[in-house]
Amino acid sequence: MLPRNPHFTLLEPTYLFQKIQERADLYPKEELLNLSIGDVSLPISKECSATLAEEAQRLSHTITGYGPSRGSHRLAEALQQTYYPMLDPNEIYISDGAKCDIGRLQILLGNNLRLGIQDPTYPVYADTARILGNERITLLPCTKESDYFPNLDELPEIDVLFLCSPNNPTGAVATRAQLERLVQLARSRRFLIIFDSAYSDFIQDPGLPKSIYEIEGADEVAIETSSFSKSFGFTGLRLGWCVVPKKLKDREGRPLYLDWERVIATFFNGPSCLVQCGGLAALSKKGLEARDQTINEYLSRAQQLKNALSPLEVTGGENSPYLWVSVPQKNSWEAFEALLENAQILSIPGSGFGASGGGYIRLSAFSKSCTTAAQRVQAIGVSSCLDLPQLSVPQPI
Ligand code: PLP
Repeated sequence: MLPRNPHFTLLEPTYLFQKIQERADLYPKEELLNLSIGDVSLPISKECSATLAEEAQRLSHTITGYGPSRGSHRLAEALQQTYYPMLDPNEIYISDGAKCDIGRLQILLGNNLRLGIQDPTYPVYADTARILGNERITLLPCTKESDYFPNLDELPEIDVLFLCSPNNPTGAVATRAQLERLVQLARSRRFLIIFDSAYSDFIQDPGLPKSIYEIEGADEVAIETSSFSKSFGFTGLRLGWCVVPKKLKDREGRPLYLDWERVIATFFNGPSCLVQCGGLAALSKKGLEARDQTINEYLSRAQQLKNALSPLEVTGGENSPYLWVSVPQKNSWEAFEALLENAQILSIPGSGFGASGGGYIRLSAFSKSCTTAAQRVQAIGVSSCLDLPQLSVPQPI
């Protein structure tokens, strides 16, 4: 037998989803409303499916072969026009999804840099680092008291900060002022920001930044990863992108994009040519209209659920698909169990995303059961759903 790669011992066991599933299996499937999932429930647009079918036909008489590792230039141009008027299309690298890019970014960083990661967090940033053997991870509490953002007054010495906005799991969106201060700090203390904007299309408030590059000077300190998954229903098709600006340099003054190009040429042969055609259709006028309708539908589900949960304190839902529900006097697992037992609604205990998630549960507006769940919570009463003392509903003034 082979000796085991010792880095795997640095990972937490994957019991969270196993335990959630075991608890869910105790209830009849037809009664269970699964609001734990982050996967989409609305289809890709007609523009995308028609283009995919047409391009698939074309493959029977056209040889495509390997494409460029960095993806199609046309798609990079379309992304630049849609999301990044401040950048050059050559700074955008198309990929098979944000998760895969996060993994490859760890290869770019190596396993010896000091990483700052939000707590609670999407687990992939830390797990990809640990698999490479990096133990130099500092978790940065992002709680209600710190506006769900790292406390920049107490930021430890780090080389890289992973930041996700709109955030999974808290649903919080970083403000312009928070990002300006962060970019300023990254410039003066010379650390790299890896900004995950996979949910940026959910931002409705025009005052909130959708990209880190809306902040002046960010192109000297930040890489951005993003995705077609959630906005365009591409979770299974696999398409994303990574921005590595030309001005971004390492401490010796070497442009980082040169190393990034080496990484993708070595570990990746570029995204699927077919799916990239789907991506182009997604960014067409009609494709973007369909995206906006999809986002509106998810946000309207989030709103119904948020209303039903009143007067509990809930973050997210207006500019993000996740609701981060504070359950007073309960730890996350107790809240999870109560909601499951009393209303057969499946959530994720906040502590599963990190210690600072204790006392919260995450609900996902991607679920097709959202409306039914909202109605059920309203019918049973939010206090009874969560075994809480009778909560007083704030009266309109
Ligand atoms: N980033 C965040 C914050 C996510 O929540 C997810 C998926 O849930 C991803 C990235 C993964 O995106 P992709 O499907 O493009 O790999």
